[in-house]
This record gives sequence, structure tokens and C-alpha cells, in this order.
Amino acid sequence: MKKPLDFLKCTRRGFIAGTATIGVSLLNGKSMKSVAHDLLNFEEIKIPTCCHMCGGGTGVIATVRDGVVAKLEPNKYNPIGVCNTSLNFTENQKDGAAMCPKGLSGIMALYDPDRVKKPLLRTNPEKGINVDPKWREITWDEAFDIIVRELKKLINEDRPEALITFSENSLATSIQRDFGNLFGTPNISFHTNICSATRKAATMAVFGVDEPLGDYQNSKYMLIFGWNPLSAVKWSHLPQILLNGKSNGSKLVIIDPRYSETAAKADLWYPIIPGTDGALALAMSHVIIEENLYNQEFIENWTFGFDEYKKYLKDKTPEWAEKICGVSAKDIKSLAIEFATNQPSIADAWIGPGQQSNGFNSIRAVLLLNVLVGSVDEPGGMMMTEEFKLGESPIRISPPKKKRFDGKEKFPFGHNSGVYVETFRQLFEENGPYKLDVAFITMSNLVLSMPNTSQVVEGLKKLKFIVVNDNYLNETSNLADIVIPGTTYLERFGLVTRGINWEYVALRQPVIKPLFNQYSEAEFFIELAKRLELKDQSGQVAFSNIRYEDYLDIRLQRSKANITLDELKEAPGGVWTSPESTEYRRYEKTVIKTETKKFQFSLSNSSKNISLNYILPEYQQRRWLPDKKYPYYLISWKHITHTHSRTQNNPYLSELKDQNYLYINPMTANSLGFKDGELVGVISPFGETKAQLRFSPGMHPEVLGTEWGFGHWAFGDYAREKGFAVNQLNKFLVDEVTGQALHKEICVNIRKI
Ligand code: SF4
Repeated sequence: MKKPLDFLKCTRRGFIAGTATIGVSLLNGKSMKSVAHDLLNFEEIKIPTCCHMCGGGTGVIATVRDGVVAKLEPNKYNPIGVCNTSLNFTENQKDGAAMCPKGLSGIMALYDPDRVKKPLLRTNPEKGINVDPKWREITWDEAFDIIVRELKKLINEDRPEALITFSENSLATSIQRDFGNLFGTPNISFHTNICSATRKAATMAVFGVDEPLGDYQNSKYMLIFGWNPLSAVKWSHLPQILLNGKSNGSKLVIIDPRYSETAAKADLWYPIIPGTDGALALAMSHVIIEENLYNQEFIENWTFGFDEYKKYLKDKTPEWAEKICGVSAKDIKSLAIEFATNQPSIADAWIGPGQQSNGFNSIRAVLLLNVLVGSVDEPGGMMMTEEFKLGESPIRISPPKKKRFDGKEKFPFGHNSGVYVETFRQLFEENGPYKLDVAFITMSNLVLSMPNTSQVVEGLKKLKFIVVNDNYLNETSNLADIVIPGTTYLERFGLVTRGINWEYVALRQPVIKPLFNQYSEAEFFIELAKRLELKDQSGQVAFSNIRYEDYLDIRLQRSKANITLDELKEAPGGVWTSPESTEYRRYEKTVIKTETKKFQFSLSNSSKNISLNYILPEYQQRRWLPDKKYPYYLISWKHITHTHSRTQNNPYLSELKDQNYLYINPMTANSLGFKDGELVGVISPFGETKAQLRFSPGMHPEVLGTEWGFGHWAFGDYAREKGFAVNQLNKFLVDEVTGQALHKEICVNIRKI
């Protein structure tokens, strides 16, 4: 049988043979020309895998020459990079697939000389922001022995819940859950609650799915609130399908306090006051109902709570919203009419509104525009996604009954990734439900990625023992007791699934062996479980005869794909896609997964013990507002060149963007006497930092803004001392519905220095 991967293979000649040839050639007095010719005779293979420079999981083909990764390019067999509906898949594949600059720079993450190469042991017991840990290299056995000793203390004291884990998403997450269950701690936490938990909760409340996606390519009207998909790229196909939509005649409207890259391509841009998106969306709904432009049939058959919503909207007029959001009543009315009469249309909102204290209701109000006009699960509308589910884990063990430290259960729509803000607030204030002693932190620079930097540092210092598993030393690993070298995505296995409109699963596989013979993150937890002799419910030592590849293999075979890992390795591009393909109006055949089994204008009154002002998506002001002392909103955004705070040491990406600036409207700056390029002090009630001003007429005059992820003081040479970190100005602010960290709800002032 022809192996599907054969289509990816190129010249195959051994490097050692090639090197030997050169040596012999030189001895034989061959000309330089023929030596150069021999040098070109290298072994080259192309291996499909999935990117993890961000959480998108884009399909990649790695070219490996003589054991060295020489090139990364898009993999058009993987839907991530091509499209989000199967109906566009074949058509879009003709144009190839897409990757973003971060993905294309993955080689430099792999070969970064600043990578941690061996386990490191802290020898300086003192901990602090600028305190040298005085690392000493140790062997893997020494590292495991020390970690096992610390964990056994918790077992002996019958306090397994005193262990907490934090991890980047899509990185051995199910193994970490299995490990937590085996060890007996419920405190397994992941990145989502400092990212997009609010949008997920809002989409669950309205649609019953946690990541619906717009079918932009086939839409006639794209209305986007607080999202910059042409730059804040996570799924690398999104920019293209949005632009395809535009080429097909769709109108693009952006609601954002700043003139983003996407706003620059839009037909209309409305600079809104931060945190007022909900008011604008409610007033649009008011107009659509008053003008009788809603889809009565869809609403009658498929929705819950319309009458209450209509009643609530009675006085939410464009004039009411104008005073709140700054968009004129006339424009609100025309936006509403255009949205309703250009079908199919899409209204979507992401973390711009989502990382503010009224985000849950704001995003619901935006999403309900789709429901009002019936643009739900229709071509060109908001599509319900179906994420592929792996089969059952081979590790049979029930989750521990102990309560989580972070109090996730108190949040009516708390995300299963946990509540980092509450964890750190309680650690700092020493008022948690019990004591935490040990933390495992996997590829998460919490010190920079959590609000309230100084208290996060103090919180971490209260833990007795911290293990950081990362590729780099950074602000968080500097507070660790042991650092374990991590792997890049080019050195490890994984299975990637994402919510697109039809199911797929893609293989992430090592394209070379781990450079430092290190364990992958999953293998690290497996090895630890074995050394601790953790037992599953049958009483057997877990993982005693299972490698990570076996684990993935079993879960794949138990899934809908029903294939082996080897079969997935051999599938074109390393991808399995469901033969069922995209299906619209799925709600007609299956149960809508909301509480009322309908698309919800309103939650049911009994819903999740939620306060009454969340039953309908009522507009409430965000909690932290500007005042005389701190008169400016401070917003932040992701730029296409960087992921969170983890790529700033990549030389390619650093060349594209090596620092952030504080963007300010020139009118505001001039009225205060500041010059373009001036270094200023930025102050909030919770911290102070310095930033370089950059004039931008595209900033709302009451808003200052910057790119996220900069301001490192303990990362590699390319990253250190470049720009400033927004979180130094923030406090422990958490969304009361979802547990989301509220990074975008900050008010500041600036001063001369
Ligand atoms: S968006 Fe870019 S960094 Fe993220 S997975 Fe795709 S190619 Fe990689």
C-alpha cells in the first residue's frame, strides 16, 4: 500500500555519508565546486505536524534536513490554516493554507540558545523579583527525587489538595487531569480563565456551544466588537476568510476604541468607549424590534425569553446608548437596520468586551443580534461548532471529592480551567479554604500574565515548593525551586482538535528528537506518577506500561475517528476529518445544549443561582471607571507578532516588533503638553511603570492603549528591558459570573518624568 506520507518525502541521502564524502573529496583534491555539489546532497524529509507558537494549532509541514529543522510551511490538509467550513475546504485548499509570523518563526523557538537544557535547582532560598536564584544544574534523577520527596510529604500528611497545577492549554492537559485525579488534588488549572472564559460562557448561555464561529466568507455583513482578527490571529485562516468575505461583497464594521488593523480594512469603524459594547448592541436590538425587522418564525420556534427581552429593551433607545457608548443615535439606528436587512449577517465579540466586568452580558447582547435575525447555523451566519472529542482515558480513576482552592463552584458560569485571580488573591491574603504548598507551572509565565504583578509574586513566594516546566527562564521561573526543561511543539506528541464546523483531529508529532534528551511535558507527568507509584482504581500503578504515544493511541481508537496513532501519522497531512462534513441548522435535528434547550434571550429564573441582573443581558457599567485622579481607560491588545508573554525572545519576531508603546491620541497628548516619543510615567492606584508615548490619531481621546506581552525583566536578551507590562498597573479583578481575569479594566494617568 502506498504510504500517504510518501507524497511529502523528498531527496533522501544520509548526512553522515554526505560529510564523509566531503572529507574524502577534499583528500582527493576535488574542486570547491564539486565539494559544494556534495554539500547539497543532504537528507531531506517533510513531516506534518501542528503549530503551538500560539494555541491555534495551525497545520504545519516541517522540512528537516540532515536532522535539522530547516523550514516550516503551511499544511493545506489541516483545516486550521484553510477554513472553518468543510464546504469551503476544497475550494480554499486551491489557494494553499496560511500561517502567521509567529508560526513561521517556530524554528527560532526550537534553536533559541537561551533554552533551559538541564534541570536546575535553586540554591538561593531568598525569593523576589530581582533576586538571583543561583541555579545549579542537576541530573534528571536528582530532579525527580527532590520533587517526589516534596510530593510524598503531602501524601503522608493526607493533604494532596495542597498541590496546584497551572498550565498552558493544549499541552498535556488531559495527562495533567489524570495526574491530579491519581494524586488526589482537584486543583488542576489551565490558561482559558485568563483569556476567553467570558466569551465561552456567553456563547454557552446563548447558543449552548462554547466556541461558535462566524462563516465570514459567505456573509453579507460582518459586525465585530472588540476583536482584531487580522492581527490578533489565533486561527491563521481567519484573516483570509474575512477578506474573502469582503471580496464577495460583504460589509465589514468594526467597533473598537482604537483603529486596529482590522478597522483599517473595514467599511466602517466606530471608536467606542471601553466596556460599553453591551449598550450599543442592546440599542441595536431595540431598533430591530421596533422596526419589525426580526425573524419572527425563528424566534417563535427556537428561542427562549424573547418577550422579556423585548420588554427590557423598550427604553434602550439609540439616544440612551449614545450617551453611554459615544456612537451617535443616528449611526446606531442605521447600523441596526443594515445588520438586519443584509442577510446573512454576523455579530461577534471577543475579549475586548470580554475582559471587562460587564463582559458576560455585553457579549450576550452582541450575540443575540444573530438570534434576533435568525442568522444562526446558516451559511454566512454564526455557526455552531462541533469539537472532536477524544475517547476515554485509559487511566481509570474518579476525580477527588475535595473542593477546589479557587472556589470555582461559586462562579455560576465558572470555566473548568479554574480561577487564577482567586487563587492568587487568596494565596496573597492567606485566606483560602486551605493551604497550598506545591505548584507545578507548565509553560505559563504567571508573573507577567496575571493581573497585579507585585501581589502575584508575593503569592508565589508563599508556596513552599514550585516546579516550573518551561523552555526558558523568565519572571516566573525565577521564583521556582526546580526548573525542568520543556519541549517545543517540534519535539513532542499531541493531538489537536479545535471547534470548527465539522470534526477533525490532527497530529502534533516530534519532527526531531528533543534537543536535550528531555522528557516532554506529558512524559514528565507520566514518569512522576510512576515514581510516586500512584494507583488507579483497580489498584495498579498507573502508567506502568503506557507511554504517552500509547495513551494517545488508545484515546484515538476509542474516539469517533476509530483509528490508530500510526494510521493518523500516515494520513495526508497527519489529519483525520469527519466524513460527515459541515451541516447547517443542526439544531433542527439535535438538542440545543442550553438549559432551556432553546437559543436564550434570557436565562431561566432558576439558572445557576445567578444574580437577577444576569437573567437578561442587562447593561451595567463596568466596575472600574475613570475619575479625576486616573482619567484614562487603559486597553491592551495582541499583535500578530507575539503570543502572550512567551515569544518576545524570538529573534525573528523581535525584529518585527521588539517593544510596545503607549498609544495616545495627539489631541489628548497636546492638551497635556506631551510629545510623540516622550518617556512618561504611567500610574494607577495599584502600580507605576514607564512607557514611551506614540501618537496615534486612531486612539479614542479618552483611551490609552498598548500591545500585550512586553516588559520582561528576567527573560532572554532579546526580550529583556523592552517596553512595559500592563499587569503591573492592575489589581485582582475577576468577573463574578465566569471567574475571568479582567485585564482590560484599568484606569490610569500619565505624568512627566
Ligand atoms: S495562528 Fe500562527 S502561531 Fe498560532 S497556531 Fe497558527 S501559525 Fe501558529
